[in-house]
Amino acid sequence: MGITADETVQVCPQCGSDIRGDARFTVWCAACDWNVDPQKPEAEHGLPARTRQAAAHRYGARLAADMASGGELRARRDVAAVLACVCAVLVHGLTLLVTALGIRWIISGWGGVPMAGGLLLLALAWSLRPRLGTLPQDGPVLHRADAPELFALIDDVAEAVGTRGVDTVAVDADINAGVTTYGLRRRRLLTLGLPLWEVLTPAQRIALLGHELGHFSNGDVRHGTLVASAHRSLAAWAYYLAPAHNPSPVQFFVSVVCFVPWLLVRGVMLTLDRLTLRATQRAEYLADRLAGRAASTEAAVQLMDRLLISDSAATVLRREVSRQARGSHRTQGADDRAHGLWDRLVTSMDSVPEAEYERLRRVGARRGHSVDATHPPTHLRRACLLAVESVAPTVVVGEDRTRRIGVELADARTLVARQILRDGFPG
Ligand SMILES: [Zn+2]
Ligand SMILES: [Zn+2]
Repeated sequence: MGITADETVQVCPQCGSDIRGDARFTVWCAACDWNVDPQKPEAEHGLPARTRQAAAHRYGARLAADMASGGELRARRDVAAVLACVCAVLVHGLTLLVTALGIRWIISGWGGVPMAGGLLLLALAWSLRPRLGTLPQDGPVLHRADAPELFALIDDVAEAVGTRGVDTVAVDADINAGVTTYGLRRRRLLTLGLPLWEVLTPAQRIALLGHELGHFSNGDVRHGTLVASAHRSLAAWAYYLAPAHNPSPVQFFVSVVCFVPWLLVRGVMLTLDRLTLRATQRAEYLADRLAGRAASTEAAVQLMDRLLISDSAATVLRREVSRQARGSHRTQGADDRAHGLWDRLVTSMDSVPEAEYERLRRVGARRGHSVDATHPPTHLRRACLLAVESVAPTVVVGEDRTRRIGVELADARTLVARQILRDGFPG
């Protein structure tokens, strides 16, 4: 085999093996792991961050072993998740209590001084209230009538994982996807990041939809909303109770009175965080399994590989942005560049060599749970999918359907591509 423009051959400075690599990517040695992780992130500073990482690592390692052996799957929630829910309900109960107390003071002290105290309590309760999500303001938002074929596919996948479809699809520029609810009626929102969606095959897209909708059927969205809103409420408490810096005598007295409640709030926040840490990691494995059920184990594993190289996608997009800024493609109109953006991204992603996938898997194994404490490392998610018996797809999409969905997303593709070229790609 001849040396292509990108291929480099060198001798490993550590073990002396021949390394054949692709110069566009990190050149590393598969024999001794030389240079496998040159951009190792700094260890987090501060005791809370470090103990959080240690806890994530401990729990993550045990959980991965359990998941791989097929265990711990019968119940959708474990004890930690239930405790987090109870904790969150108590926090919101406290807000309700403050509200009730405020109303009582206003009624009983009508026209007098207690009424002012009541109003103050109501203002406090208002700042502690759980917030309902809203639809994203920037970027395309699709309803069923805008994209009937996409919504029909989402319905099919939802049925396969045991839930109903979504009410709205938002399209954005993240290499990610996500689900949440919004408004009083708890409508369902699916957010599709085009840089991820575009580089997936039809089967991998079903795996992605299966994973995200799996968070609905496992109750993670309801659970997550409840816990996150409680966390916000606690953060507000902590802010009000925090000791003052350079206090005046009055402030000092207030700080002394508030010190124990403040510590208590901080303790509850830390506990809630720990409990959630466990629950969210577990939820990801369970959602992965549903992704496999919808799209086949094979497609779900392929999705993990795509997620593994998302940094490469970010690099490609940033390169596109800087080319646009330098105006090196003036011969083409900006719209033409926007149109070609996704195709160029797909071509780049398809050319990532297997050695780069393998390197990133080894990086994941070395860094362990230290990078992102809420998500299990991708290589473990991949291993857990492969550890249990492979399943065949429940939902299959033909070429026709894929094309029709592509047409429905055409406007969003152009809009988001222009948005990336105009505003830049974050990171
Ligand atoms: Zn070596
Ligand atoms: Zn997830």
